[in-house]
Order: sequence, then C-alpha cells, then structure tokens
Amino acid sequence: MKDITINTAIAYDLPPAFSGRHLIDGAWIENAQTFERVSPSHGTVVSVSAQGGVEETNAAIAAARKAFDAGLWSRISGKERAAVLLKVADLIEANVERIAVQETLESGKPISQARGEVGGAADLWRYAAALARTSHGDSHNSLGEDMLGVVVKDPIGVVSIITPWNFPFWILSQKLPFALAAGCTVVVKPSEMTPSSTVMMGELLIEAGLPAGVCNIVLGHGEPVGSLMSTHEDVDMVTFTGSTAVGKLITKASSGTLKKVALELGGKNPQVIFPDADLENAADAVTFGVYFNVGQCCNSSSRIIVHEDIAEDFVARVVALSRSVKFGDPLDDSTQVGAIVTPEHNAKIDGYVKDAASAGARIELGGDPLQVDGLGTQFYQPTVISHVTPDMPIAREEVFGPVLTVLTFKTLDEAIALTNDSDYGLSAGVWSNDIHTCLEFSRRAHAGTVWTNTWMDGYPELAFGGVKQSGQGREIGRYGFEEFLEVKSLVMRVGRDSRTPWVQKGA
Ligand code: NAD
Repeated sequence: MKDITINTAIAYDLPPAFSGRHLIDGAWIENAQTFERVSPSHGTVVSVSAQGGVEETNAAIAAARKAFDAGLWSRISGKERAAVLLKVADLIEANVERIAVQETLESGKPISQARGEVGGAADLWRYAAALARTSHGDSHNSLGEDMLGVVVKDPIGVVSIITPWNFPFWILSQKLPFALAAGCTVVVKPSEMTPSSTVMMGELLIEAGLPAGVCNIVLGHGEPVGSLMSTHEDVDMVTFTGSTAVGKLITKASSGTLKKVALELGGKNPQVIFPDADLENAADAVTFGVYFNVGQCCNSSSRIIVHEDIAEDFVARVVALSRSVKFGDPLDDSTQVGAIVTPEHNAKIDGYVKDAASAGARIELGGDPLQVDGLGTQFYQPTVISHVTPDMPIAREEVFGPVLTVLTFKTLDEAIALTNDSDYGLSAGVWSNDIHTCLEFSRRAHAGTVWTNTWMDGYPELAFGGVKQSGQGREIGRYGFEEFLEVKSLVMRVGRDSRTPWVQKGA
C-alpha cells in the first residue's frame, strides 16, 4: 500500500511582493514602518505592508464616523447601495486569479481552494445587495383608533471588522457587504499574516464607486490597532472572527462603551457516524472535513465519533483515503492540502499529536511534520489518531491542522453526550439513513449548524455562527444582516388627543 501522496514544488514565477497601504477616507496611506509576510510554503517575502498604529486607527475611525453622520451612505436608498454591491461582486469575479494567488502565498492554502474562496465570495455580495433592497420593519395598526406604531430599522453606525488569516477574503465577505447593505460605515483590520486580499478588496470598492470614508482599512497587529477598534467610543459595533481567547479580550475591551459585539470563534466539531450510514460517503466527507484548508478551519471536523461496531473498518477507510489526498505545493492546481501558517503553529500541532501518543492514543497514519521537496518543512502529514479518550487535550481543543481524532460510542444518547461535552458549539454532523436518528441528533446537538449526511455545505441564505464559546450573534443570511441594524419604534397619535389631560387645569 502506498504511503502518502506528495506534490513536490512546481515551477512558478512568483509575483513581486505586494505592497499594502491603509485606506483612510478614500486615500491610500503609507507608513515609514512596515511589516513583512513570508510565504509559509515558499519561504520568500510575499507582501510588505504599512504598519498601522494609534494615529492611523483614530483617523480611520474618524473617517467612518464622519461618513456615517453625513448620511452619504447611511441615508441613501437601498437601491443605490445595492448597485455598488453588485458592481463589487462583478469586480471580484474579474479579479479571482490575482487575489487567489496572493492569498495562497500568504496563507499556504491550496490555490484551488483560494480560487473557490475568492470567486465564491461574489455570491455573498449579490445576496447582501438583495437584502439592501428588501429590508423592512413592521407596522402596528391595531393599537387603537387614534394610534399608529411603526418599527423601523436603522443602520447601527460605525462597525469595526476584525478578521483572521485562515479565510481572509471569505470572512471579510461574510461581514462587509452585509454591514454596507445595512447602511453602516466600517473600519477593517485584516490579520497581520494575510493583509493583502483585504487591500485588494479596497481597490475593488473604490472602482465600484463606494464613497470615501465608508470603508476604511488599517493594516497592523491586534495591539494597538484591533484593540483600539474595540474600545473607541465612536465605534458602535465590533464584529470579530478569530480565536476564542482574543474574542474574550474584545468582549472585555468593548465593555467600557457597551458597544455591540458579534463573535465567530473556534470549534471542535464532531461528525457522528452510525452503522446504517452510507459509509463510503461518510468516509469521504470526514476526509474532506479534516483536511480542507489544511485543517486550519473553524469548521474542521477534527473529531469523529463512530459507532464501536464499525469503528475499525471506518478508520481503515479514512486512512486509505487520506493516503490519496494530495499534500504539498499549494500553487499546484491538484494540491488538496498546503502549508501550515507558521513554524510555531506547526510545532503546536505536533505537540498535540505527541502528547496524545504518549497518553496512549494510537497513531494510525502520519503524526509528524512533513518535508516537501523544493519547499521545506512547514507542512504536516495527514494524521489519524484512534484510541483517543474524551479527556485528552487533542479531543477537546482546537488543533487547527490536518489531524483527525477518533472517539467511539454505543448508543445515540452516548453520541449526543460526547458531541455536547465541549466548550465549543460551532457545528456538528450526523450520518445515518434513519430519519429519526438524524432528527433526534440534530435537535439535541448544541451547535450553530448541524449537517445531516453532508459536511460544510453553506449558503448565503443560511445563518452561520456558534453557541457556547464558539461565539455570539450570527453571520450571513437575514439573521446575519439584522445584526447590523438597530430597531426603532415610532409611536404616533392620529388626530388630537381626546384623552383626559394629565394636568387638570385649575385643580
Ligand atoms: P486570532 O484571534 O489570533 O486573530 C484574529 C484577528 O484578531 C487578527 O486580525 C488579529 O490581529 C486580531 N487581534 C489579535 N489580538 C487582538 C486584540 N487584543 N484586540 C483586537 N484584535 C486582536 O485568530 P487567527 O489565528 O487569525 O484565526 C484562527 C482562529 O479563528 C481559530 O480559532 C478559528 O477557529 C477562528 N475562526 C473562526 C471562524 C468562525 O466563523 N467561527 C472562522 C474562521 C476562523
């Protein structure tokens, strides 16, 4: 039997290092101080970005505040806003290759997945455009003959958008078009590891005609940029995607001004496999679920919970499939798993694996960093680990790498208990041909999304988000859009007040 499948380095002319600047009040701003991103796969500098500080962050927030208060975006019609969002969608589609290559070079993800991420984001912009035109409130015509109540929805105001490195363009598009559709103005801070695709988005926004100051971009680190975006009194809402640890910091930081906070955080997502499932489909989905985006995915199905009668056979199927998954050069069109984001993260993944092995877990496949000829060692082998117990850190914490852990169960109740025995609650999946099993699992699983006989399908129409320490609030869909709106009640008397006056004259 073959070992694993490795795509060694292909010949490729890398583009010159991308030069990233802030976008503040419609102008591109440089800094004398810059920071570099070294490609995790190719080891060369692939972007040099302006290093934002307090001054740039304050200027960006002031520009967003001024634009919001001036009403040049917040008070125009939904039709006009939609027209700009639709243009952005077209421009995204026209620029997929350039953005995807840069994203692959900065993140290490396979180019085919970067193309899917960037091209697919256009649909989020189109859906948000539809929402911009169909947003409405309620009217209350039954409050009595002389009263009329109308509930309207207003844009919440200035929104800070803080994004992670694993899906920089997609996650930005889960937030930005929805905030813009609502009429908000924004300040965006991408991860310091993947800043460039957000700057490229800024270029498209200008080309599409978004007015100056409506979307501002500041490049830099969590301190001071992200932290000031979370505390500043002129910011009305922070929407953050990233680690649970930083999510908690943001909640604390924003409490001083009681601004609204929406959080999309980590996950430890199980797929539960019953013996009556289509095991071929389930094994393929498990393999996809753990290796997609190099396993660096909030929705990674990093733990599977398999019925003990089929566990051995199912693990053997997943191991066999894992051997055929193509690991290696992310710029190769056929690669399915690329590089790990940083050397430190690769060491962290390896630490979880080695700890589990020394605690008695069995390494069924992989278990070590991977050397790819011509590209170096910032890769990790496809790794499957069985005989894991629910108390092991590898079964409870986000490993964020191509590492699958296997737990077993005997009864539906036990499978649900294992599913819910987690600090996280982002997503979960069930595989069975019995509709009652699937429905009972779906109703009792503590998760923001439950997939039945599939994994990681998503649509702009369907809300996404987590329960417990996976986050708060929802993204995309109508629910995600509503996060960027405030509800206001207008209470109106019709005709003269015929009630007895509150003040009795001369009494
Ligand atoms: P991270 O939390 O380290 O960083 C995310 C962003 O926060 C970056 O832009 C960073 O610069 C910024 N930041 C850091 N410190 C900050 C501070 N004190 N104040 C404000 N901002 C600060 O996360 P990451 O390593 O970039 O991303 C990986 C994490 O993101 C994983 O935990 C993953 O599960 C999670 N994630 C969740 C979802 C979801 O939708 N639930 C999606 C993708 C990723």
